[in-house]
Amino acid sequence: MTTKTNTAPAEQHESMFDAVLARLDVAAKIYGLSDDVANILRNPQKQVKVSIPVMMDNGKMQVFEGFRTVHSTILGPSKGGIRYAMDVCDDEVKALSAWMTFKCAVANLPYGGGKGGIKCNPREMSVGELERLTKAYTVAMADVFGVDRDIPAPDMGTSGREMAWLVDAYNKTHRGDFPGVTTGKPVGLGGSLGRDAATGRGVMISTLAALAKMKLDPKNVTAAVQGFGNVGSHAARLLNEQGIKICAIGDHTATLWNEKGIDIKAALDYVKANGNILKGFTGGVEIKPSELLTANVDVLVPAALQNVITEDVANNIKAKLIIEGANGPTTPEADPILQQKGVIVVPDILANGGGVTVSYFEWVQNKYGHYWTEAEVNTKHDASMNAAFENVWNNAEQYKTTMRIGAYIAALKKVELGIKAKGWY
Ligand code: NAD
Repeated sequence: MTTKTNTAPAEQHESMFDAVLARLDVAAKIYGLSDDVANILRNPQKQVKVSIPVMMDNGKMQVFEGFRTVHSTILGPSKGGIRYAMDVCDDEVKALSAWMTFKCAVANLPYGGGKGGIKCNPREMSVGELERLTKAYTVAMADVFGVDRDIPAPDMGTSGREMAWLVDAYNKTHRGDFPGVTTGKPVGLGGSLGRDAATGRGVMISTLAALAKMKLDPKNVTAAVQGFGNVGSHAARLLNEQGIKICAIGDHTATLWNEKGIDIKAALDYVKANGNILKGFTGGVEIKPSELLTANVDVLVPAALQNVITEDVANNIKAKLIIEGANGPTTPEADPILQQKGVIVVPDILANGGGVTVSYFEWVQNKYGHYWTEAEVNTKHDASMNAAFENVWNNAEQYKTTMRIGAYIAALKKVELGIKAKGWY
């Protein structure tokens, strides 16, 4: 039997954690955060890295790297997704965990921030391999996760299927039934109605709130959406249902443009029947992936990757409004360019907070063993997102800054209060 380490090189990427710190520093200065609190937030509370040997279908052993970072538990148990992708690394997980601390604070949830991931390519793995990998990762993280300690959820490359495997492995390790140890589970296994579409729904609510501030009627607005996975596909559908014309969509296999508006329902039916990819869909003309970001539309929704809106892209962007469905799609260097151009950016830690908001509802339902209707979930979600949007907008106005820095300030106010009230040694 051969033992192989999963050593494929990570894609070259700038430090995402530095991107978090860059914004944290700007917000801390404008708000006047104490150095002690800033220092605590600059350093994640706990970082765990594990090696996970998995027997592959070909009879060979492969060792995967698994990560979990708890950035903060000041406001409650750490909360954050698990990502399966080849560029998962310490830096990325650290950055995403810090964003979760700020996102949960912005959404006014009783949670801290965490994030996890496995460096792997789920698209090239069989279902059996993914199940073994997920369960082995869960066992390796058995002392990190916990209903009231650290609560994962799906992220890029994972879904309700992986969360059901995670619960199974956690239950067997801890000899009980702990549905609240993760969120984003399938409905019927403790999952919440509305969770699957929640992040896309939050993107839609944020878009409508921003358009109202800009005095624009959604029916006269066009949009481009990058990514057609969980966030992008639901966002495109829900925005379209509000009358917004979606002129461009794209995933890792194809990018399409249609000036008259893409038939989103047809695109959804197509991906469902074709292995979840857009390649081959004929509802628009193929354009280069980079053209989607600078397309002639009013609203841009990056809902796939980090670091795609660079200085260069920012200089060429035509959209008046960017709604960050993905985590970290804009580089810190692009921020001032967009600000100078008058582009409103609804930042990730606000715009994609709908997912963790309904995750929180799922966790509450698990604790009570009583489940809400989809309409109840959506009503509570919409109210929560609208309140978070108003709070961030008001902070941005009060401190005469962007919505991104306004969101950081809104989060810092809450986290600082928690840190100071609890004290330290
Ligand atoms: P997903 O795996 O369901 O979908 C990812 C999508 O991105 C797919 O359509 C994929 O084809 C596309 N993609 C990958 N590489 C691409 C490329 N080079 N160009 C264009 N498209 C590409 O993931 P998701 O859950 O939709 O997550 C997307 C982003 O949203 C991530 O940044 C994630 O952290 C963030 N997010 C997700 C949630 C959630 O609830 N799922 C919540 C908050 C934030």
